[in-house]
Amino acid sequence: MAAEIISGTELARTIRAEVKKGVEELEKAVGEPPGLATILVGDNPASQSYVKMKQRAAQEVGMYSRQIDLEVDVTEDELLGWIEGLNADPAVHGILVQLPLPDHIHKPRILEAVHPAKDVDGFHPINVGRLNVGHPEVLVPCTPLGIAELLVRSGVETRGQHAVVIGRSNIVGKPMSALLLGLGRGGNATVTVTHLLTRNLAEHTRMADILIVAAGHPHLVTAGMVKPGAVVIDVGVNRVEDSTRERGYRITGDVDFEAVREVASAITPVPGGVGPMTIAMLLSNTLKAARALGVPVA
Ligand code: NAD
Repeated sequence: MAAEIISGTELARTIRAEVKKGVEELEKAVGEPPGLATILVGDNPASQSYVKMKQRAAQEVGMYSRQIDLEVDVTEDELLGWIEGLNADPAVHGILVQLPLPDHIHKPRILEAVHPAKDVDGFHPINVGRLNVGHPEVLVPCTPLGIAELLVRSGVETRGQHAVVIGRSNIVGKPMSALLLGLGRGGNATVTVTHLLTRNLAEHTRMADILIVAAGHPHLVTAGMVKPGAVVIDVGVNRVEDSTRERGYRITGDVDFEAVREVASAITPVPGGVGPMTIAMLLSNTLKAARALGVPVA
């Protein structure tokens, strides 16, 4: 029997509606909406389109939004100056520096400059540490947070299950494994993390009750690599040539969707799976940051 399709698009819509309600309530309580600022360096078309989507999503839920566009040759000190300004701006509760940054900018220095309480991408080492120790005042990276939410709200039990993660990036793989291993929502699993140097990848993936694939490699996961009945979450976003499309390419995930859906019990599509959840969780993180920062002083 073909797997159930887990729709991130639908769930993201629900979460955005919940965030919108939270924004209205917070604005009523403190007199101002949560604010999200995005910084874009250079003119990478993909980054421009991501930032535009994030800004539009913030506006749609009633947040104040601010976009800062900087030239590709902006100096590191200038960029740090902008971040300092936003750290001090009371109308801004969430700051996102769109990645990738140009090579002349030292990424860790920039990520560490964002105030941890406004770090809605969850990349500051304080938030990374808090995620790993299970601290409640943490901002968790949006993509893994969205996946945990997808699993919980789709009724997928993670407790005691064997979760296998493909990929060990700071953006997806590592925080995903920390969430699965932790005690919170979507946690309490037994976790295996695999990567490019893992030997016999299929031996690991075939043991997974829940398989999270974040490699950036189209069709990496085939049906033979999946245990019958497993839940498969495809994080990959890959452009593959497609002459039947006007634009000459299509977007595909890391999983051979058509074949794997015949083996799995549930699977996320690409597009329409993890992607929409990432933006929904950015809004959710911004609301969380505003709630924590915006409590009026009695
Ligand atoms: P990354 O390149 O930083 O990391 C990829 C990881 O996968 C690495 O740890 C690497 O060791 C591992 N890997 C690569 N090829 C492998 C293979 N053949 N076998 C086993 N492991 C392999 O990428 P990332 O930022 O973690 O993103 C991963 C994918 O997820 C990309 O396609 C990216 O576009 C996508 N992504 C999607 C969203 C979303 O919102 N939908 C968000 C972030 C990333």
